[in-house]
Order: sequence, then structure tokens, then C-alpha cells
Amino acid sequence: MSSISLRAINKSYDGTTPVLHDVSMDIEDGEFIVIVGPSGCGKSTLLRLIAGLEQCQDGEILIAGERANEQLPQHRDIAMIFQNYALYPHLTVRENIAFGLELRKVPKKERNARALEVARTLQLERYLDRKPGALSGGQRQRVAMGRAIARNTSTFLMDEPLSNLDNALRVAMRTEIKALHRQLGATIIYVTHDQTEALSLADRIAVMKDGYLQQFDTPEAIYDQP
Ligand code: ADP
Ligand code: ADP
Repeated sequence: MSSISLRAINKSYDGTTPVLHDVSMDIEDGEFIVIVGPSGCGKSTLLRLIAGLEQCQDGEILIAGERANEQLPQHRDIAMIFQNYALYPHLTVRENIAFGLELRKVPKKERNARALEVARTLQLERYLDRKPGALSGGQRQRVAMGRAIARNTSTFLMDEPLSNLDNALRVAMRTEIKALHRQLGATIIYVTHDQTEALSLADRIAVMKDGYLQQFDTPEAIYDQP
């Protein structure tokens, strides 16, 4: 089980200016949640709190029913995928995909087998020996996803993962991410400022504004109102 609950989260970076106000949400195991809202409304901050990369002043984060506020990022069953991909330029695709496993001391043979398996899922087998500099934007994004998938985590956090891609590729990658979600049965929490993206991906959409969670409901309930 990997349900995630946020209970009355308040967050400020400087101790005076609030960036998140009393945010509460319950995310079910296997849901595709999209957090949508204008730049600066607190989407990335919320994601980084769930990842354990930021701490909140008050409120509680529950992962699989257990308080996780003090749990280190590497001890959470969560993988984060960044907008800039955060790939290691001097490592091959295989090594980039296997990186998280190396940190966890998985033996090399096992790492390479897992990297191959993941590369097949993402149609990257032909590129395993290349470095990120020799890949297209879409391929780099797939490698970043591969690195997250390789670890077998049950929750993926994605912060504007498609915003550096051109429009056609963005639409294609959306379909891939949706298919991947079905295939992995994982929970995905996905941040975007793009409403079309939110509509096409989400089981439920969290609408944020100025640090407040304004709505949290299905796309139909949010956008089909008379
Ligand atoms: P979004 O992802 O919706 O663009 P962010 O969560 O990045 O929003 O930012 C929310 C607010 O917090 C903004 O006002 C931003 O300037 C501020 N902020 C974000 N990160 C930091 C930081 N590391 N230090 C100080 N302020 C920050
Ligand atoms: P820097 O180049 O700033 O020292 P790193 O190269 O250590 O930073 O990391 C670059 C980015 O990759 C960071 O955003 C970091 O959080 C992320 N990162 C580091 N290790 C991993 C990993 N095993 N899996 C996913 N992301 C990682």
C-alpha cells in the first residue's frame, strides 16, 4: 500500500511568508493525480515535501498510513522525475538507468539486467551505450523515467516533465506516460501549469492558487461545471 495523505500542511521558506496554506489531500494507491495552477502557486513545493526534499512547519505527511515528516527521501518508496531530467552526462543510458540501483549496492550483473528490462519497456534498448548528449529530448525524458522505474518504487513524482519538449513530442509522451501508469499500477503525482495536460492525464486534479488547494476532484467535476 502506498497511499499518501497530507494533513493541514503549512510551509514557509523564510519563516514569515506562507507558501502553502493548510493543504490537505488524500491520495489513493494507484491514482494518477495532477497538480495544476499558475507558476509560483506552490506546486513544486508540495511535490518536494512529499519527496522529503523539503520540510513543512506544521501539518503531517502520511505515507502508507505512517507519519513520514522526518523520513529521509531515500527511505521513502518514492521516485522523483525532474523537468531538466537531471541525467548524468558522463554516464551511458544504461548507467543512468541503473544509477539508483548502484546507490543501493545492487550487483552489477543484476543492475544491467534490470536496465535492459526497463529500456525495453521504454523503447530505449538501442541507446543503452549512448550518453545523454547524443539523445533527443524525448529520449532523455524516457531515460529519466527509466531511472525512476528501475528502482521499482510504487510512487512517481513528476515536476513539469514534458515542458522542455516540443508540442508534438509532448502529446506523444503524454500517451506514453498514461500507458506506463496502467502498466506499472503505480501512483503518479504530476505537476503542470497546462490544463490540457491535466485533463488528458488525471484521475483527479488538484487545483492550486496562491498556496491554497482550491479544488480536488475528477476532471469532469472540475471542468464540466455549468
Ligand atoms: P510552482 O511550482 O507552482 O511554480 P513553487 O512551489 O516553486 O511554485 O513556489 C512557490 C513559492 O515559493 C514561490 O513564491 C517561490 O518563489 C517560493 N519558493 C520556491 N522555492 C523556494 C526556495 N527554495 N526558497 C525561497 N522561496 C522559494
Ligand atoms: P549537482 O550536479 O548539483 O551536484 P547531482 O549531480 O548530485 O547534483 O544531482 C543532479 C540532480 O539529480 C539533483 O537534482 C539530484 O536530486 C538528482 N539525483 C541525484 N541522484 C539521483 C538518483 N539516484 N535518482 C534520481 N535523481 C537523482
